Amino acid sequence: MEVLFLGTAGARYVVARQLRASGGLVLVLNDEITLLDPGPGTLVYLSKYKISLNKIKNLILTHKHLDHSADLNILVDALTEGGLKKKGRLFLPEEALKEGILLPYLKGSLLEIQILREHQEYMAGNLRFRTSCLLVHNAENYGLVFYLPSGNKLGLISDTAYFEELKKEFEGCDFLIMNLVRYEAKEGVLHLSFKDAKDLLATLKPKLTIITHFGMTMLQAKPSSVAKNLSEELSLKVIAAFDGLKISLS
Ligand SMILES: [Zn+2]
Repeated sequence: MEVLFLGTAGARYVVARQLRASGGLVLVLNDEITLLDPGPGTLVYLSKYKISLNKIKNLILTHKHLDHSADLNILVDALTEGGLKKKGRLFLPEEALKEGILLPYLKGSLLEIQILREHQEYMAGNLRFRTSCLLVHNAENYGLVFYLPSGNKLGLISDTAYFEELKKEFEGCDFLIMNLVRYEAKEGVLHLSFKDAKDLLATLKPKLTIITHFGMTMLQAKPSSVAKNLSEELSLKVIAAFDGLKISLS
């Protein structure tokens, strides 16, 4: 599987000022694309990186927040040629659908809309994945684990505060993409911090971890330095994503 980071911004300030792009993730398997968390600018960056819209078969939203969903409607419109061609599957939490994140006139243009619930398995075309338990965030939000054809597993820890069960939920992931929004934890902010990441990775020990979705405190701490610190302290391979990072995971 190829993974392309269209954007690596997280949190309001970085997204609003576009200090990093905010386009989410492109997963390519057997020439089919699954687009994950299409934040603001996704359509623009798909064009910039010359990604064919025809290859996008699946859209997955981990939660409703705009940095994960803002371009959903324009993408559905683009994929389905303004609703004329029935195409694409959408996976999203019930809360996001109920709040009207997808405009009603576009609903009928998708082949399928599937509701994400905790601990369920789904097929996004050829790509099998499962949800984690409900994450601790101010929205209905799930982590995901993708089953790669090689037998390896790719985990995605979306926005969440730290909680002990995360260690169980992502146990056995060979690759891990982690939304590491904050360098230091802040009371009441439901995001992972550097200390949380260190604690999690010390237990999970993935073969490769990619940190992304950076807020301001992470940009100030320099994501590449933070990744280097984690790598050295834990003797694990940890890298920081940047806008446009393309990586092959097998
Ligand atoms: Zn969020």
